[in-house]
Amino acid sequence: MPDLFIDGEWRSAVDERTREIRCPADGSLVGVVDEAGGKDTVEAIAAARRAFDEGPWPHTAPDQRGDLLLRVADLLLRDKDALARAESLDTGKRLVESEYDIDDIANCFRYFGRTAASETGRVVDTGTEGVDSRVVYEPVGVCALITPWNYPLLQTAWKVAPALAAGNTFILKPSELTPHTAIHLMRLLEEAGVPAGVANLVLGAGPEAGAPLGDHPDVDLVSFTGGLQTGRRLMAAAAGTVKKVALELGGKNPNIVFADADFDTAVDMALTAVFLHSGQVCSAGARLLVEDSLHDRFVDEVVRRASEIRLGGPFDERAQTGPLISAAHRAKVEAYVAKGLAEGAVLRCGGARPDGADFADGFYYLPTVLDECTGGMSVVQDESFGPVLTVERFGSEDEAVRLANDTIYGLAGAVWTGDEARAARVAGRLRIGTVWINDYHPYVPQAEWGGFKQSGFGRELGPAGLAEYREPKHIWRNTNPTPQGWFA
Ligand code: NAD
Repeated sequence: MPDLFIDGEWRSAVDERTREIRCPADGSLVGVVDEAGGKDTVEAIAAARRAFDEGPWPHTAPDQRGDLLLRVADLLLRDKDALARAESLDTGKRLVESEYDIDDIANCFRYFGRTAASETGRVVDTGTEGVDSRVVYEPVGVCALITPWNYPLLQTAWKVAPALAAGNTFILKPSELTPHTAIHLMRLLEEAGVPAGVANLVLGAGPEAGAPLGDHPDVDLVSFTGGLQTGRRLMAAAAGTVKKVALELGGKNPNIVFADADFDTAVDMALTAVFLHSGQVCSAGARLLVEDSLHDRFVDEVVRRASEIRLGGPFDERAQTGPLISAAHRAKVEAYVAKGLAEGAVLRCGGARPDGADFADGFYYLPTVLDECTGGMSVVQDESFGPVLTVERFGSEDEAVRLANDTIYGLAGAVWTGDEARAARVAGRLRIGTVWINDYHPYVPQAEWGGFKQSGFGRELGPAGLAEYREPKHIWRNTNPTPQGWFA
């Protein structure tokens, strides 16, 4: 069956190209999917444009749109096993993590399903007699939704659910490396009753299948999650037709540990912060900032435990984390570590591929700790998106804040301390979109997600996440029109 979904039909690519998808854990063939080129994407844009300009979806009552999203949430849970398995095969991620993701994804559809029905506009008190003034929310139009490979269906859900809830039509382009759960989601949207042309799927490489989404005049909004360089390129492309742009980009996230933190929990969570999904998490706590007096004891324990982390494929129940997504990505991580060592970082563990036949055909890299790092080093400034923790020391609260903020990114981070007042002070001074206090990584669909500085532009999730996909329109009604006589 063909894999591109355009105007309510499953199609092959116009030039009949396909791509092999292989599991990063062992190189086994997961599937062969259709590979769109620019022509397919332009057709998908035309279908989304027609469905927006002529179709029923933008004018469907918000509660009916919400009902459809709630049906999709149920279907996601019905198909949870198949979806989780497909996600793990494409990404190499542990099955248990993919299962968590599917629950989160269903929650996301449920949140936006309910919000769509409840937030439909407001009456404005103008203080003027004889006037009825209201603000209503209208969909932005045709949305290009472009997503990465690390949390393929989750990142997709964060865009598809609010876009649909607000009444938009869209073209989804997932990462070329991880297409299978996007295909499955489109089948569920079809089953739930999304009208033809509202939801379109193109698969393929960024420069070919993706590029028309950035500059085509019929696209009204580009919502992108991915790397900084691609984000900059898309923002520039979108400028020509002044599209709305929402960007969720990278992070170089500080995990700040004061000497009065709960030692065992802070160590445990420092590992989770950076090594979950082998560090391929935009909010990974890849920069550990430790108070001087705690440094040696804390880092020794982090290193001891990092050295014992068990690597393995998605269905290995003993594995604690898995491979990197591709050979090219692992080479990038290796080059990043080599540069850090050349700059003076001290290798405490890892820094190599694991030995053994089990790992020979996958893209594994050992959990790595680089100690004695300082602010100017490339390993501290650049996102590795791999299982690499850099360690910096600080001597005071001011210094911790200064170091934490000394990056072009501003996505997320944490502060660990037993002192509530200090936690609040530091949280207030961090220039990041999400601050965890004595925790790392949790998020909820009710609260906004997104970055300060070059981590992005706009927000996903929460009320602002829905606002990205709506245009507020002010309607002023004069209930008693009479001549005013200005030019009488
Ligand atoms: P990427 O930028 O290489 O690719 C992301 C998507 O953009 C893919 O679908 C790709 O095909 C597409 N693309 C590439 N070039 C394009 C072009 N010219 N036009 C249109 N589309 C194009 O990123 P990646 O390697 O897939 O993902 C990793 C990055 O994503 C990391 O930097 C990570 O921090 C970031 N990320 C951020 C968040 C967040 O919430 N802020 C979440 C997840 C991932």
